[in-house]
Amino acid sequence: MDKKIVVLGAGISGLTISYLLSKKGFDVTVLEKKDDAGGSIETFFEDGFLFDRGPNSGLETHPLIKQMADELGLTDEMVYAGREAVKRYILRDNKLHPLPMNPFSLYKTKLFSSKAKLRLLCEPLIGKSQEGYYQSVGQFVQRRLGKEFLDYAIDPFVAGVYAGNPEELSVKSAFPKLYELEEKYGGLIIGTIKSIKERKNRAEKSKQSARMFSFKSGMQIFPKTIAAHLGEKVLFAAEVTSIENTEPGYRIKYIHNNDRNSIDCDIVISALPAYAAADLVKDLDIKTAEHLLNIFYPPVLVLYLGYEKSAVGRALDGFGFLIPSKEKKSFLGAIWSSVIFPNRCPDDKTAFTLFIGGSRNPAISASDRNDTINKTLKEFGEIMKINGEPVFQSSKFWSKAIPQYNIGYIEHEKAFEEFEKNFPGIFLAGNYRGGISLGDCIKTSNDLVNKISEQLKS
Ligand SMILES: Cc1cc2nc3c(=O)[nH]c(=O)nc-3n(C[C@H](O)[C@H](O)[C@H](O)COP(=O)(O)OP(=O)(O)OC[C@H]3O[C@@H](n4cnc5c(N)ncnc54)[C@H](O)[C@@H]3O)c2cc1C
Repeated sequence: MDKKIVVLGAGISGLTISYLLSKKGFDVTVLEKKDDAGGSIETFFEDGFLFDRGPNSGLETHPLIKQMADELGLTDEMVYAGREAVKRYILRDNKLHPLPMNPFSLYKTKLFSSKAKLRLLCEPLIGKSQEGYYQSVGQFVQRRLGKEFLDYAIDPFVAGVYAGNPEELSVKSAFPKLYELEEKYGGLIIGTIKSIKERKNRAEKSKQSARMFSFKSGMQIFPKTIAAHLGEKVLFAAEVTSIENTEPGYRIKYIHNNDRNSIDCDIVISALPAYAAADLVKDLDIKTAEHLLNIFYPPVLVLYLGYEKSAVGRALDGFGFLIPSKEKKSFLGAIWSSVIFPNRCPDDKTAFTLFIGGSRNPAISASDRNDTINKTLKEFGEIMKINGEPVFQSSKFWSKAIPQYNIGYIEHEKAFEEFEKNFPGIFLAGNYRGGISLGDCIKTSNDLVNKISEQLKS
C-alpha cells in the first residue's frame, strides 16, 4: 500500500484503474492531458439536444459496471435501453430489413436468400481451420457461415462495433469468444449452447444478452463522477512527455499549465491510446514503441442530427441500422439516439447519430468534409424517408477513433507482455488491450488492478 502509483490518462480505463486502486488504499495520481474526464466519452448539450460524441451506450457485461455506478451515487442516473432498441436493421437493396433474432424470424427474413439460410444450417458440420491465430474475421465467418452471412450480417456488425473491416480484423484478437467457440467446442452453434453455463458461473453476460445502459445526462457523467470522487488525485491539463527509468522506480515528466514538472513513482500504468504510449516508451524500448505505433486507428466522422419528428416518414422502432459495404453508401450506419434513451431531444423532435469512414473508408481524412456530409445527408434522407432539413446539425472528426485488432495483433500482445517483464512496474493498459467496448475496458482494468495487488502481496 505504500507504493506510489501514477496512472496516465483519464479515459474510462485510467479512471477505473485509479478508482479500484484507490479503493484498495493505494496512493494514486492520475495525469490527464485534457481539462476534462472521459477521453473518448464526451457528452454535449445544445439547443435542447443531448448527444454523445463517442460511445452512446455500453453493455452491462460485467457486474462491476453497476456496482461502480451505485457506489458513485449514479443509481438514479443510470438508464437502460427500452425493448424497441433490441430491433436492429440492415440495409439491403435500399430497404431496411430487421436483423433476425430467433430461428423463426431467420426463416422468414428477406435479408438472406434461401441458399444462405441453408448454408447456415451446415455450420455444425464445418471442421476447424488450420490457419490458427492468423485468420481474419472474414475468412472465419465465410468458412463457418457462408459468404452471404459475412456480407449482410458480419460486415455491417463489424462496422458498427469497430468501424472495422472484417478482412483485416483478426478473429482471435478482435472476437476472442467467437474464436474460442470453435477452438473449444468445435463449432459456433454447439459452443454457444455449451458456454452459457460457464459464463453464468463467472457472473458475466454475453454481449447478446447484456443490458444496454447509458445515463440520463449522457455517458460522460460516469467518468466525470469517478474523477470527482478521486478529487485532487486527478491532475487535468497535465500532458505526460516522458517516462524515465530511475531503478527501482520511474520518473514521469509532464507539462502542467505550461510548467515542466515531474513525479517519482514505483508503478506507472499507461492508459493512453497506443500511439500516445509509443511516444513515452520509445526511449525505454524502441521495439515496443513500434508495436504500439503499428496498431491502426482509422478515422471516423460522426454526424449528430436533429429533425422534426413529423418530417421522418418511416417508423422509429429500433436501435438504428447498419450498412453492408456491398451497398456502397457514404456512411456506415445510424443510431436512432432519441428512441433508445430518454431526454435526448425535445418531444416533437428526433435525434440521430451517423458514422462515416472507419477502416472501410480511411480516405475520409483527405476528402472534402462538406461534400461527404452532404452525400450522407442525402442518402440518409432517402433511407429514412425524411421530408425536410435537419433542425440541428453538428459533427466531430475523430482522426484516430478505435484501435483495430487486425491480423498480426498477437505479435503486438506478445511484445507488450515482454516489455512489462523487462520493465517491472510499468503496465500498458487501455482499449488496445483486452477489447474496445466500455464493458471490456472496465473488466480489463479490474483484472489489471487484481494482478498488481497480487504481485505486490507476493
Ligand atoms: C466515435 C466512437 C464511438 C464509440 N462507441 C462506443 C459504444 O457505443 N459503446 C462502447 O462500448 N464503446 C464505444 N467506443 C469505444 C470506447 O469509447 C473506447 O474504447 C473507450 O472509451 C476507450 O477508453 P480508454 O480509457 O481506454 O481510452 P481513451 O478514452 O482514449 O482515454 C485515453 C486518455 O489519455 C489521454 N492522453 C493522451 N495522451 C496523453 C498524454 N501524453 N498525457 C496525458 N494524457 C494523455 C487522452 O486525453 C484521454 O483522456 C466508441 C469510441 C469512439 C471513438
